[in-house]
Amino acid sequence: MENLPKGGILGSFLVAGQIESKDKYQRFERLSEIFTWIAIVIGLILIQLPFGQNLNKPTIYALAAAVGAFIIVWYHLLPKRFSGQSKRFVYNLITIVFVTILVHLTNGVQGYAMFFYFLIMISVAITMSTVQTIVAVLFSISLIITEAYLTKGPLETNLSLAALHSWGVLLIVFFSRFNAGEALLIKKREEDIILDKEKSMGRLKNEFVYIISHELKQPTTAIKGYIESIKSKSSNLLTSEAKEVLNLTSANSERLDKLLDDLLDISQIERGSLRINMMDVSLRPIIGEAISTLFIEAKQKNISLIQKSTEEIAAKADVDRLKEILTNLIGNAVKYTPEGGKVVVDVSKEGEFAKIYVADNGIGIPEENQKHLFEKFYRVENDQTKAVKGNGLGLFVAKQLVERMGGQIGVISKPGGGTTFYFTLPRYRW
Ligand code: ADP
Repeated sequence: MENLPKGGILGSFLVAGQIESKDKYQRFERLSEIFTWIAIVIGLILIQLPFGQNLNKPTIYALAAAVGAFIIVWYHLLPKRFSGQSKRFVYNLITIVFVTILVHLTNGVQGYAMFFYFLIMISVAITMSTVQTIVAVLFSISLIITEAYLTKGPLETNLSLAALHSWGVLLIVFFSRFNAGEALLIKKREEDIILDKEKSMGRLKNEFVYIISHELKQPTTAIKGYIESIKSKSSNLLTSEAKEVLNLTSANSERLDKLLDDLLDISQIERGSLRINMMDVSLRPIIGEAISTLFIEAKQKNISLIQKSTEEIAAKADVDRLKEILTNLIGNAVKYTPEGGKVVVDVSKEGEFAKIYVADNGIGIPEENQKHLFEKFYRVENDQTKAVKGNGLGLFVAKQLVERMGGQIGVISKPGGGTTFYFTLPRYRW
C-alpha cells in the first residue's frame, strides 16, 4: 500500500489485491477451505437430484475425492510459511483446472457448473495483483473456449455460450476488483485522516509545551538570580536555618531550570526549529568549562572531577550544545556516583571523529536498562536511583543533539562497576 494511486476508476482497479500480511492470506485460506468443503458436500448431494441422472457420477465422485485430497495437502501439509499471494495465485490456477474438469464432466459450456468460474474470479479479483488477475482471467477464458470445442452440440451455440461466459468472467472481475480497490482506498484514506489528526494533536501538544516552558523560563531565571544574589551578598545575615532553606530553594530552582531547558530543547527538536550553529572548536577548554560548572556539586560529594587529555583535539560543533551535552553527562556521572568517587573526562581521536568519554566509578546501569537510556522520560528504577532526583530527559536530549551535530552516543556500564558515556563529533584538522 506504499504507492497508492491518487484516485480515479483505474486507481481502485490497480490497488485491489494489495494485501501485505501473510496473516491476512491465512484468513483467506481458512475461508477458502471451509467454502470448498461445503461446495463438495452440497455438490455431491445436488447431483443426486433428477437432473444428475445423465451425469457420469463415479467420475464426479473421483473428482470430489481428488479436490478433497488436494485441500488437505494444500492447507494442512504444506507449511504455513508458504502462505501469501504467490501460494494463493497457484491455488487459484489449480482450482480453475478442477472447475474445468467439473465443467467438462457436467455438460460442458452448456452446464450449470460454469458459475464456479465466476466464484473463483471473485476471489482472484479481490486478492490477486493486477498481473496475476489478468493471467488468471486469460487462463480461464482460454479453458472456457477450449471447452466449447469439447462440448457436445453445435459448435456455433457452444462458442456463443463460451463468449457469454467469458463476458461474465470479465464483468465479475472488473466489478469485484473496483469494489475491493475502492474499499481499500477508503480504508487507507480513513487511516491517513486519523494519522493527520494525531500529527496535528502532537504538534499542538508540542507547541503548548514550548509556550509554557518559554513563559516559565524567565521567572525561573530571575528567581535563580535572586537566590544567588542573597547567597553571595547577605549570607552573613542569615540564620543557619534560613541558609538551609535557601540552599534547598536554590537546588530546586536549578532542577526546575534544567527541566525547562530540556523541555524547550525537546519541543524545538520535535518541531524542527532547533538551530545548530556548527563551528570549529578546540575541545579542551570547552570540557574544562563544563567541568568547572559542576565543580561545587562534585566537591559536596567529595568526588574528584578530572580532565585527563592534554592533547589539543578540534571538532566541528555548536559550542553551547556541546557544553549542554557535557554538563548533562558529567552532571549524571556526579549524581550517580557515591561519595568519594571519581569522574574522568577524556578525548581521543578516532579516524575522522573526536571521541569524548565521561567515565565514573559509580553505581553502574543494569544491562536490561541500557537499551532504553536514550528514550524520552526513561529513568532506571531501582534502590540506588530512588533517592536521586531527575526527569529522564537529559540523555534523550544529549542523543538528539549529538546526532544533529553528526556524531553518535553510546554507553558502557556494569552494575557496581561504573559507567562510561561516550560520544563522537566530526573532527576538525587545524
Ligand atoms: P535523569 O534526569 O533521570 O538523570 P537522564 O536522561 O539524564 O535522566 O538519565 C536517564 C537515566 O539513566 C537516569 O535516570 C539514570 O538511571 C541513568 N544514568 C544516567 N547516567 C548515569 C550514570 N552516569 N551512572 C548510572 N546511571 C546513569
